Amino acid sequence: MSPPLSDDSKKPARIELNDQLSLYEQKVVEGCTIDFQNPKFRLIMRDPSMASADSKNSLYGGSDKKSSDPAASGIFEITDVMDSWKDTDLRNEFNKRLAAASTSQAALHSNFLTEEDRLMFRDEEMEPKKELWKYPNLADRAEIIIKREDVGQAAIKYICADCGEEVRLKKNDEVRCRQCGYRIVYKKRTTAACQYLAR
Ligand SMILES: [Zn+2]
Repeated sequence: MSPPLSDDSKKPARIELNDQLSLYEQKVVEGCTIDFQNPKFRLIMRDPSMASADSKNSLYGGSDKKSSDPAASGIFEITDVMDSWKDTDLRNEFNKRLAAASTSQAALHSNFLTEEDRLMFRDEEMEPKKELWKYPNLADRAEIIIKREDVGQAAIKYICADCGEEVRLKKNDEVRCRQCGYRIVYKKRTTAACQYLAR
């Protein structure tokens, strides 16, 4: 590549290095900046909870429904992944593809990934601020498994109606403040007062 002849000629030209030529031949001298850019790659994001009985059958039945409707199989191919991406970028891409998939809007809504859902790579939970290149074995076509927050098992935060203490309750827990024993709690996030009365 020849250096530009415009007014920009005083700025160093940005060229892609050719690995067949020496650095000297490519005029790489002291003070040059070399950016390292890995090629983009593909990842597979798989959500086992989205795979319907239908699409599981089609895996063996020879139907190509699997590839045409990722929302039915739970398998999403994410292309143009950059190794500077983090966990959150993958979630966004997944949600974009889900929005573009063919399933009805109503069914889609509950499938969008939230911060509560976990991304797993080789049985290891991915960390929110860790770039993809920091995972040693994460290469082209690696598979990321989505583990959904189990709604039935999640503790929901309430506020005791008597003492105001936070009360975390799971689905089958007895409704009772651990601080004062009071049996009426309010749901924390809603501004409207909802009462939950213990039987
Ligand atoms: Zn209380």
